[in-house]
Amino acid sequence: MNFNALILSFLISLFSGNSEEAKVEKPKKAGPPNIILLIGDGMGHSQLSSALYYGDQEPNYVRFPFVGLSRTSSSSHKITDSAAGATAFSCGVKTYNGSIGMAADTTAVETIVEQLAAENWRTGVISTSSITHATPASFYAHVPLRKQEFEIAEQLLSSDVDFAAGGGKRFFFDRLDERNLYPAFAEAGIEVDTAALVAKNWQADKRYAYLLAKDGMTPVYQGRDEFLPEATAMALDYFDSTDPDAPFFMMVEGSQIDWGGHANNGEYLVKEMLDFDKAIGVALDYAEKDGNTLVIVTADHECGGFALVSTEVEVPFQGKQRDYDSLSFSFGSGGHSAAMVPVLAFGPGAEAFSGIYQNNSIYHKMWAALKGE
Ligand code: MG
Ligand code: ZN
Repeated sequence: MNFNALILSFLISLFSGNSEEAKVEKPKKAGPPNIILLIGDGMGHSQLSSALYYGDQEPNYVRFPFVGLSRTSSSSHKITDSAAGATAFSCGVKTYNGSIGMAADTTAVETIVEQLAAENWRTGVISTSSITHATPASFYAHVPLRKQEFEIAEQLLSSDVDFAAGGGKRFFFDRLDERNLYPAFAEAGIEVDTAALVAKNWQADKRYAYLLAKDGMTPVYQGRDEFLPEATAMALDYFDSTDPDAPFFMMVEGSQIDWGGHANNGEYLVKEMLDFDKAIGVALDYAEKDGNTLVIVTADHECGGFALVSTEVEVPFQGKQRDYDSLSFSFGSGGHSAAMVPVLAFGPGAEAFSGIYQNNSIYHKMWAALKGE
């Protein structure tokens, strides 16, 4: 909708006297779209497909109209790690495994969060790992090695991230250098909550951080609640209620789909996948109402060589047979794999995410969508 059409629809809603309709139809914000980038760490095609068979409803992701394939290799390895994988999205460069926000020659590259914050965008980073872990860190930090999580924690404080939620308390409050970063949050204008995901009296000039576990959040199969979808909804509420005219960029990570793959634990993996799909639903519901929000779901790589295979059963007098109506989990590896991963897109500019392309193209496609190209 262009600006004139926007004014026209606003006037029509004013004079139609249909206040209910006016309430439902939020006027579409002119200008570049908000972006919600959801990363399922380790989410290959079988991980994604598992939500078709193990959820109690149709997955939210079937609502995406545009689908592509991302080629995931890093500059150093055929099989990427999560650091190089996320840096491809956040900085637009192929780099070596282990790099956080740095190019292959270890020069720091500005992240999309830094670039957009400089143009007064609001930004958010949410993960079910520690917030200093490779995927979220790649959006706000620059270190040559992903394991430098104490350094990454300090960089979060001085970053542009307005809303952060995840685990990783020990990197801030129980550090090897014995410094406690608690006072540094206040100095940085960040209200930090280490107890619970509770909404605040949001203020536009304040940043918010929720650090709710020592390391990663509790896995869903061991009792994690609705943290990921709720944190996603909370960040949207913060953006909307403090500065509804400023666009926002938010990265939401289902971090532990990957960990279920590493552990070759199908229950772990599938429950994280279903949880991630709930966060996808929150993002899509918002984008459908808002009308000017681009939602992208993708993965950094596959993990576990995971497949949904038929179950072998013993049939009397016939020996072993494959039951094609009974699924079993199969794992080919305890690590990542080289397979391409899905990219799903909805909203302004989404059609550009169709096709087969390198993972770092996702960064450039997001920028093209922002510029309306
Ligand atoms: Mg990750
Ligand atoms: Zn992994």
